[in-house]
Amino acid sequence: MSASSPRKGVRPPPTLDTEVMFLKGGGPAAASRLHALGIERVRDLLFHLPLRYEDRRAHVSIAGARVGDDVLVRGRIVGQDVRFAGRRTLRVMIDDGTGPLLLRFFHFNEAQKNHLGEGRWLQAFGGLRVGAGGAEMVHPQYRVADSADQLQPEQSLTPIYPLTTGITQQRLRQLIAQALELAARDALLARDLPGLDGPPTLAALQTIHLPKHDADARALLAGTHAAQRRLKCEELLAHQLSLRVLRQRQRSRPSPPLAKAVVAIDELRGALGFPPTGAQRRVLNEVARDLSGTQPMLRLVQGDVGSGKTVIAAMAMLAAVRAGMQAVLLAPTELLAEQHQRNLARWFKPLGAAPVLLSSRLKKAHKSVLLGEIADGRQALIVGTHAVLQDEVRFAALAVVVVDEQHRFGVQQRLALRDKGGARAPHQLIMSATPIPRTLAQTVYADLDISVIDELPPGRTPIQTVVLSNERRDEVLARIAAACREQRQVYWVCTLIEESDELDAEAAEATATKLRAELPGVRVGLVHGRMKSDARDEQMRAFQDGITQLLVATTVIEVGVDVPNASIMVIENAERLGLSQLHQLRGRVGRGSAASQCVLLYQSPLGETARARLETMRATNDGFAIAQRDLELRGPGELLGRRQTGEIGMKLADPLRDAALIPPLQRLADDYLQTRPDVAMLLIARWVGDPKLYAHV
Ligand code: ADP
Ligand code: MG
Repeated sequence: MSASSPRKGVRPPPTLDTEVMFLKGGGPAAASRLHALGIERVRDLLFHLPLRYEDRRAHVSIAGARVGDDVLVRGRIVGQDVRFAGRRTLRVMIDDGTGPLLLRFFHFNEAQKNHLGEGRWLQAFGGLRVGAGGAEMVHPQYRVADSADQLQPEQSLTPIYPLTTGITQQRLRQLIAQALELAARDALLARDLPGLDGPPTLAALQTIHLPKHDADARALLAGTHAAQRRLKCEELLAHQLSLRVLRQRQRSRPSPPLAKAVVAIDELRGALGFPPTGAQRRVLNEVARDLSGTQPMLRLVQGDVGSGKTVIAAMAMLAAVRAGMQAVLLAPTELLAEQHQRNLARWFKPLGAAPVLLSSRLKKAHKSVLLGEIADGRQALIVGTHAVLQDEVRFAALAVVVVDEQHRFGVQQRLALRDKGGARAPHQLIMSATPIPRTLAQTVYADLDISVIDELPPGRTPIQTVVLSNERRDEVLARIAAACREQRQVYWVCTLIEESDELDAEAAEATATKLRAELPGVRVGLVHGRMKSDARDEQMRAFQDGITQLLVATTVIEVGVDVPNASIMVIENAERLGLSQLHQLRGRVGRGSAASQCVLLYQSPLGETARARLETMRATNDGFAIAQRDLELRGPGELLGRRQTGEIGMKLADPLRDAALIPPLQRLADDYLQTRPDVAMLLIARWVGDPKLYAHV
């Protein structure tokens, strides 16, 4: 194959390690766009896997097509016009003998319009829906020809890839096909991976990218094909390997033993003003045991929202202070950092310790004084956001690092934490409010030991959840107006409509405007992801201080802000959210002593899974039960599980759905590390990312 190159001169034939811009259809402009997809070299194209497949292998009769399905249809053009109802629309009517179908286009030009002349044949692929005048498709993909037999269905399934602006499916398929040709000659790809079943890597990649016409389409569509399974196993194995290497790396330096940890528990108990729950006591002991050792603690504390994880953090930090060393707590936002600093200050006051807030809002002079005091050890307790990880922040003797809301921090940042301790590695305590079943946690967080707080502090009034159709919005508004008159506060959550921050922000603004009109006299605030963090914090503070009564928010409020007076939450279009996200959101209310309500508004008609999700929310407040249900509800529907895997960055496997594959891979991972570390590193590089991160020190 000859690669056309943007530069002149003789160049060696491309390999998998060549930059994509040397491929046909690559080119510097396309290459820079591909970078946005994480694709730099030809090899990366191979592992840019389809999200799903479209089935264009047969024409479906217009009369027989099911509403809601994506279908391929073919018919003769029987009419065409342009309408100006609100928006200029090109309407093309086709008929395949079984019935008519209306195609509607909003973006079109004259040439396109002329192309779609009456009497010609048209093949369209798109989602079938019911419009005012019967069956229709909006902006289908289409081809036109003069005769029907020039419009044949595809031989095999059509892979659909994740895209970025300026890169089409077509372009990706073309590039990936070239990559597959080069792959056949690649030595690394040919390395044997003993212990893994199914077709070898290359054959599996070929099937997934370019399924043959005789490939098992049902299995591919369902994500259960042997080729998919093979690659999932590779990815899960790579993930296990990376976590093991990470753990080794984290443990490559000793840490300071904090012998007074147990004493710290007693001290803290005296200062808290409430007795720890049984679950907190158990976890406090587990942490204290870790802290008193010379191996760095690497512990994940899982506990539902409101289960009292901060108490555990406080104890670990106190243990560092009592050893004459330092502790730092990292929160995901400035606002949460402030909240932690306030709570800790209150608890530590009778103990003679005072945490400082290292905020990006500090005045320069003040900040440099503070940095000096942290560097020479005068400040022992520090709270901040991940800005605390920057190079300018140096510690005299860092012994404990607490990370709140673990999922916001990546591998790189966790390693940066370790390095903050100098020659000795600080103990790490990671707190997560995303409850996942224990067996699963053990595989996803194989580099960490796990503690679970499975009990809520006493005296909470459970949140009452109601599920209502949008048609009853007026009732909800009346209830909110009444609650605000009683000085209660309300969250109003707008869920994602578009896959863009900008449009979401607009939608949230529109909702706020609307609610202001609908609820005269109620002071309405607004937070969304498009706001600068200062402006967002300001809005949150106004809500915390009761200056605003109703806070319209996108899902940015998901992470742990405490406003005990907020006792009502409305989630609009709740059917769009997953269970764990709904649960996290709901955890924002029910923090005070007043009885709290959560109203889940939905738009009918409700799909079966969405209905089951909302019903689960109505039936239980228990995060672990919800996680378990979440696991059951995720059928193979979400073919290659993209969204859920985002958090841990998997391409193909879903550690929830594919949990059963994991145990044998854990054993295999141990075996690889002992007997073929080079292949282990190869797998990590292929699936997980930057191998330098995982290399031994
Ligand atoms: P989370 O696990 O969500 O981080 P927090 O640590 O913020 O929970 O605790 C939630 C609230 O419960 C806080 O106001 C905290 O002071 C309180 N709390 C924690 N533990 C107990 C307890 N054992 N008894 C009573 N209240 C507690
Ligand atoms: Mg918390």
